Amino acid sequence: MQQQDFDYDFLVIGGGSGGVRASRVAAGLGARVAVVESGPLGGTCVNVGCIPKKLLSHAAHFSQLAEEAQGFGWQLEPPRFDWATLIANKDREIERLNGVYEKMLAGAGITLIHGRATLLGPHSVLVGAASITARHILIATGGRPSMPDIPGVEHAISSDQAFHLRELPERVVVVGAGYIAVEFASIFNGLGAQTTLLHRRQQLLRGFDADLGRALAEEMQRQGVGFQWNEAVVAIRKQADGLQLQLGSGRSLVTDCVMFATGRKPNTDGLGLEAAGVRCNAAGAVVVDQNFSTSVPSIHAVGDVVDRMALTPVALAEGTVVAHGLFGQGGRSAPDYELVPTAVFSHPQVGTVGLSEAAARERYGELQIFESAFRPLSNRMGAAPENVFLKLVVSKADQRVRGVHMVGEGAGELMQGFAVALQCGATKQQFDATIGIHPTVAEELVTMR
Ligand code: FAD
Ligand code: NDP
Repeated sequence: MQQQDFDYDFLVIGGGSGGVRASRVAAGLGARVAVVESGPLGGTCVNVGCIPKKLLSHAAHFSQLAEEAQGFGWQLEPPRFDWATLIANKDREIERLNGVYEKMLAGAGITLIHGRATLLGPHSVLVGAASITARHILIATGGRPSMPDIPGVEHAISSDQAFHLRELPERVVVVGAGYIAVEFASIFNGLGAQTTLLHRRQQLLRGFDADLGRALAEEMQRQGVGFQWNEAVVAIRKQADGLQLQLGSGRSLVTDCVMFATGRKPNTDGLGLEAAGVRCNAAGAVVVDQNFSTSVPSIHAVGDVVDRMALTPVALAEGTVVAHGLFGQGGRSAPDYELVPTAVFSHPQVGTVGLSEAAARERYGELQIFESAFRPLSNRMGAAPENVFLKLVVSKADQRVRGVHMVGEGAGELMQGFAVALQCGATKQQFDATIGIHPTVAEELVTMR
């Protein structure tokens, strides 16, 4: 088939982070592009992920700030919070962003097709009754919350529904201890709900440096989050005074809202992958090579649907690689997954880049660890003093900094610059030779001895 025999050069399934980025880069390189999207534009990040989450997290932080302000001489009326105002303003901002995305696609000359796509073969896709052909197809369908298969699960919510609750529940149980669980436990707690985080182990944020989970749990507990460790919810029953959670230990718990944040799964069901010959792994994620090509050479996949690292900037980077690989000159290489900085927008925040102490020890053997826990100046006079925790992981033989870790407000903003330093291969001596900015939390990272 000649190039012009296809309806498009590039057909992207999914108008989220990875799909929109790939489509825009491809269009900029001269390709004829269409995006098929079954929901609102912007995908998870814009509609039920990063953006609304960060807005809610910001809202939750004000209760702590109001408490702290008193130590600095502010006399505030007992502050009152209105959930309906927050949600209405959040929805308005999301709608604005949906419009920005639509304009962006139109401006780039990309055709937007509303509907659910199913693969028919290596070059064709079905949307409604229409069969559309393309030289290259990109699967960027993202993921969705994974809910447990337990009796009464229909009474529980995931993060998707948490953004649209009619009112702030008085009592909430959040199940899990990953990104979403700690972020939402902090949100509910900060907004005034009596919040419990229930987890099957006794560790937050498994996979991060273990000290981060410990430091975060301490601070969250101090702020009022209750923890139920080594527990599981095995059944949920609706009763007059709320939801009764039957726990694995035999105990029970009554709450107004239970939210499962127990991981996400790739959106591959009903996509027609099997019929098209696209291989998936046991978790249902699309299997790709280093160029994000699937087992069918004309079909590619990026973002959460490939289940590598479920973060927006990673999906953006992967989408860019695919578009350049297909329509640019020479292509671009896959992102360096090891040095992806990340932040958890809990209260306090967690920021990290590079290897945990355990992972670095396994890779590099002998290490030097530098740690510091202190109360920053801004928290010294408040009623709710909050500690900051900082940690550097250095491989002893070559003095390279292998990991920078932090628990404390501002960790997300602070970590971006340190990610650049690690990308440049910075050594501990180079950290030491860097003059600090005083008085900041960040200066501690260049003065640790
Ligand atoms: P998505 O953005 O999910 O886009 C997939 C799109 O495909 C969706 O719009 C969907 O409707 C569409 N689609 C699916 N199937 C079809 C079909 N068959 N036909 C047509 N369209 C289809 N990451 C960060 O970096 N920072 C954060 O702070 C952060 N916070 C998060 C908070 C929450 C609560 C969640 C859930 C995630 C968060 N993430 C965050 C992760 C981030 O949102 C995702 O990694 C990112 O959105 C993945 O982009 P994607 O393009 O792979 O998929
Ligand atoms: P995570 O993988 O981060 O955490 C899942 C949590 O659920 C873990 O604590 C896990 O426990 C627990 N869990 C998994 N299965 C079960 C089960 N069957 N029963 C009980 N507990 C279970 O997933 P999230 O849903 O929190 O987030 C999904 C992804 O979205 C993240 O990994 C991240 O990539 C992205 N994200 C990024 C954010 C950011 O950048 N700030 C914010 C939110 C999401 P265990 O530790 O025992 O395995």
